[in-house]
Amino acid sequence: MSFSFMGKHNGSHPEENKSRTSKLPIVDASVPKIMIFPVSMHIGAPAKPIVEVGDQVKVGQILAEEGGFVSAHVYSSVSGEVIAIEKRGVIGGEADSIIVKNDYKYLKADPIVEPGRSQDMSKDEIISTVRKAGIVGMGGATFPTAVKLSPPPGMTIDTLIINGAECEPYSTSDHRVMVEHADEIISGINLSRTLFPMLRRIYIGIEDNKPDAIKALEDASADFDDIFVRPLKTMYPQGSEKNLIKNLAGREVSPGGLPAEVRCVVANTSTIRSCYRACEFGEPLIERIVSVSGTPIKEPKNLRVKIGTPMDSLIEDCGGFAEVPGKVLGGGPMMGKPVSDLGVPIIKGTTAITVLNPEEAEIGDEQDCIMCSECINVCPVSLQPILISEAFERGNIDKAKELGAMDCIECGNCSFICPSKIPLLDNIRSAKAAIKQKEEK
Ligand code: SF4
Ligand code: SF4
Repeated sequence: MSFSFMGKHNGSHPEENKSRTSKLPIVDASVPKIMIFPVSMHIGAPAKPIVEVGDQVKVGQILAEEGGFVSAHVYSSVSGEVIAIEKRGVIGGEADSIIVKNDYKYLKADPIVEPGRSQDMSKDEIISTVRKAGIVGMGGATFPTAVKLSPPPGMTIDTLIINGAECEPYSTSDHRVMVEHADEIISGINLSRTLFPMLRRIYIGIEDNKPDAIKALEDASADFDDIFVRPLKTMYPQGSEKNLIKNLAGREVSPGGLPAEVRCVVANTSTIRSCYRACEFGEPLIERIVSVSGTPIKEPKNLRVKIGTPMDSLIEDCGGFAEVPGKVLGGGPMMGKPVSDLGVPIIKGTTAITVLNPEEAEIGDEQDCIMCSECINVCPVSLQPILISEAFERGNIDKAKELGAMDCIECGNCSFICPSKIPLLDNIRSAKAAIKQKEEK
């Protein structure tokens, strides 16, 4: 993947590679016999299983309850029998998982709330429905949305920012949601008027490489004079929260600070749509759109996928591999995580499956740092990636924390730009995990 360097804190321009899927309508994915539901599909405490092996479950039935305030329920996306509760591989590691054998009857559980009432709901009802639905940030962050929509007491929200940037190369799932479901995104936005009574402006930020999505949302929001659809320069990582707040609202969040401190809330397009569907139809979060693309994929697609579907089933839906894959990623090439077992399930935050051929996947041998500063120049949150990485390699976790490792948004810019092929992002991710572990102790 080639880059052109854009100067300090301006981000970069990885090849977009979106053209194979950006115009393809969403189609239903196949649903396999065995579905896998990890209890950790989100940031925060794992959910606690409330079913046992041998139980019969329905579509939209709760399998595991949230394990704390920052957590999320897990629901079954099929009907059938719970055949195991065990550790299974997931993108980026392993997690306790509930395995359901699909009976293909699609028997439905009751809706989580009475359908058709979204426009009459109170603030508390909306928050509790979003919580009940198990909705988390679907752009990949997986932070529980009910928590995000409940800013700390005393913080007033006057600006809502909808993130339709989708700056990650190859990924087109949000793009297709914006083109095909613009009305539901606007309905979701309208719920936020109840949540934030002081709301003055709503920005929908979309990179200018998606003119059809910009048009669809302009048309859908034509009746609202406080909704502004804003084309954004195509640049990576345009979709980071702090970038969006700065570019759209002209406000700066302090290092380690929350958007609410500058009176903003940022939500992803698919997430806000899911909030609407939960409130209007009583639907828990049991499916999402996933783009499957990359050179080795025979027929790339945008798929409507039941959460819990193993990745290999989606690759099969796309005709399999036309050549031997070099690397399979859960997500895009910048923020995605490599997957070695294609049996891992799609979870709530899986935006894409990206497959690179061996040549594209080749990153070259790691060399010594030549102190070019490019990793520092390209970091959108003004960190010094090489220093954090070195602190981690020396085992100095406190230093990594002091250098702001926890502020890293894991965009991957530093790793991609590094001429010495130092695995900066991997090291920073490991440093963050070590810091969290130390703090938990
Ligand atoms: S991965 Fe983290 S440290 Fe590296 S450029 Fe992105 S935000 Fe900065
Ligand atoms: S880590 Fe890589 S990008 Fe950063 S200063 Fe060293 S050689 Fe340059």
